[in-house]
Amino acid sequence: MLPLPSCAVSFPETIEQALELLSRPGARVVAGGTDLLPNLKRGLGRPSALVSLARLSGLDAVARDEHELRVGARVTLAELARSSLLPASVRYAASLIASPQIRNVATIGGNLLLDTRCVYVNQSPLWREGLGHCLKADGTECHVVPTGKRCVAAASADLPPILVALGASVRVASKDGVRTIPVERLFSNDGAAPIALGPAELLVEVVIPRAPGTSSAYRKLRVRKAIDFPLLGVAVAVDAEGGLVRALRVVASCIGATPRKVSGLDSIAVGKPLDDATIEAVAERCHGALHPQTNIAADVGWRRAMIPLLVTEALHDVRDAVRTRGGDDGTA
Ligand SMILES: Cc1cc2nc3c(=O)[nH]c(=O)nc-3n(C[C@H](O)[C@H](O)[C@H](O)COP(=O)(O)OP(=O)(O)OC[C@H]3O[C@@H](n4cnc5c(N)ncnc54)[C@H](O)[C@@H]3O)c2cc1C
Ligand code: SF4
Repeated sequence: MLPLPSCAVSFPETIEQALELLSRPGARVVAGGTDLLPNLKRGLGRPSALVSLARLSGLDAVARDEHELRVGARVTLAELARSSLLPASVRYAASLIASPQIRNVATIGGNLLLDTRCVYVNQSPLWREGLGHCLKADGTECHVVPTGKRCVAAASADLPPILVALGASVRVASKDGVRTIPVERLFSNDGAAPIALGPAELLVEVVIPRAPGTSSAYRKLRVRKAIDFPLLGVAVAVDAEGGLVRALRVVASCIGATPRKVSGLDSIAVGKPLDDATIEAVAERCHGALHPQTNIAADVGWRRAMIPLLVTEALHDVRDAVRTRGGDDGTA
């Protein structure tokens, strides 16, 4: 068993107190701790202090108005999975994460800001030393792309693909105020430092636009039906009117260091019905565009072959809603 290195933990009760504590060099947020603490046990990161969100007031509600849904950063995955205010695709993606015990403490904020994963780095310090360190932790080369200069560890969280597909954004607080950024711009595309936030910034809220014409779905590839991280995650969102597609987005995870939005789908799908021919053409385009790396412990050829299948399944999920009502954002 790997011991957790000792580290001071503070429990602020207001956002202002949390931001003050985070402004100290090396301080780091801990929410549910289900990703951060295992990583610290493996020697991945050495914070000077942890700032817990456990006693922070607010940030723990789901609310909606006419235009948007707002989810506090501390809302747990279990609460997300059962919230009737949210699109069914988001509830479903949350329900597939880890295990009931983990979903009871893990948060939406921590899921969005999950560290990237790689078979060469999610190991004990002794294991990593045996092979030789890499760009993500104390080394100078990558074992996956030896000629590469950038870490390609996999973005492996289940919620980012569906939130990107739905056009969600996050509100981030710092001592300079609050800024709003689209979820798709939250990622740096460098697996060694995958989150494009400053160290003293606190994610406070996720905002999902309400779009009655939009239908969405999520599919996850994994070996077991519980606990496993995704080997591939595929989210689709289709905006339609009168049975014809107005916009179609496909976003995949576990391909590289950032969730990948597939380009070139407008010319294939816009203005057309979501029939078998359109779905097949979209699935084929996604297969051509997405190339998983070898840093997840499952056959890379099988994972790539599953891309068009997952895309097809997800589009079949939304097809009826697109045909009959032009869309259904899945909220009650
Ligand atoms: C056995 C196991 C299986 C798992 N399976 C899955 C899975 O199938 N799918 C999946 O997506 N994940 C999985 N996870 C990972 C993890 O449980 C979840 O992603 C979870 O949502 C992380 O949330 P957390 O609140 O515990 O984050 P934490 O571990 O507390 O934090 C994660 C990161 O986010 C930062 N952070 C957290 N909240 C904020 C905030 N509000 N502002 C700024 N920074 C913040 C932390 O500093 C840290 O860097 C698994 C974990 C385990 C141990
Ligand atoms: S992708 Fe390369 S640099 Fe990144 S964690 Fe894996 S081996 Fe290390």
